[in-house]
Amino acid sequence: MIVKEKQVCAIVEDLFGSYMEELTNETTRHMVEEHLKECKTCQKKYETYLLQTEERSLQEEKVSQKFRRKLSRYRYQLVGIIIGIVLTLVVMIGGIAISIFLAQKANVVDNYTEDIAEYGKFQDYAGISKLYLFPSKKEMNMENTSLEKYVYECYGSKMYQTYQIYLECEYSKEEYLAEKERLKNVEEVDKEKVVQNSEGDFKYPGVYAMLNSEGCYEYALFLEEEEKIIYVYLQGSVDRRELKFSEEYLPVEYGQDGSSYENEKEYTMYSLTTEELEEFIE
Ligand SMILES: [Zn+2]
Repeated sequence: MIVKEKQVCAIVEDLFGSYMEELTNETTRHMVEEHLKECKTCQKKYETYLLQTEERSLQEEKVSQKFRRKLSRYRYQLVGIIIGIVLTLVVMIGGIAISIFLAQKANVVDNYTEDIAEYGKFQDYAGISKLYLFPSKKEMNMENTSLEKYVYECYGSKMYQTYQIYLECEYSKEEYLAEKERLKNVEEVDKEKVVQNSEGDFKYPGVYAMLNSEGCYEYALFLEEEEKIIYVYLQGSVDRRELKFSEEYLPVEYGQDGSSYENEKEYTMYSLTTEELEEFIE
């Protein structure tokens, strides 16, 4: 078959793309090269083809650059949004944490004094005991009575507080005997009496109105030689390390680890009903 010149030109023109990208086989490439050497028309067409191709790829490059720029702008916006969300979360969580902390703080009862002028204010306190052993302010104002030490601490949540009330009085001989007599005869309404401590519950002789009743203690100790009387009220598990008075005035078996001991021995002269107990816990 004889191929006319014009037909060759058309075939070569069709092959421009493959030729340029070197996708043709050896023979075809050779054929195209030979023809381009001889045919001016095709030479011109090929040059034009190359120019157009270059132009097109430049255009494409521009478009893709534009696209990339747009994309990076979006990326910045995205990062901005994420930072915004994170900051908002941090502020929210921080706010919640602070309000929980403040709410807890507001819920803590913490009354403490060593000021003897404040003595007696505990009379309207919320504790479990009626504090019959502690002398009234009037009784304390006896002429020859010397107040050595006073501590009042109420600490805990609004639901439940621990108490340590401590009073140390030094009396004249006469007043000492009178006070001892008063203490031994302290009675509840239903005539339940204080117990005279003679069974090694304390290091010192004394009387108690409560012994480990609901973890509460109320007692008075007689320091015979000094003519002193120690009055103590403990409620809840007052940690030994938090104690504001000498450990020697604690009940002998008071918990070593800070909790009150679970002695089988329990006593209260107060006839506390379940309702009274619940009321005090609330
Ligand atoms: Zn040609």
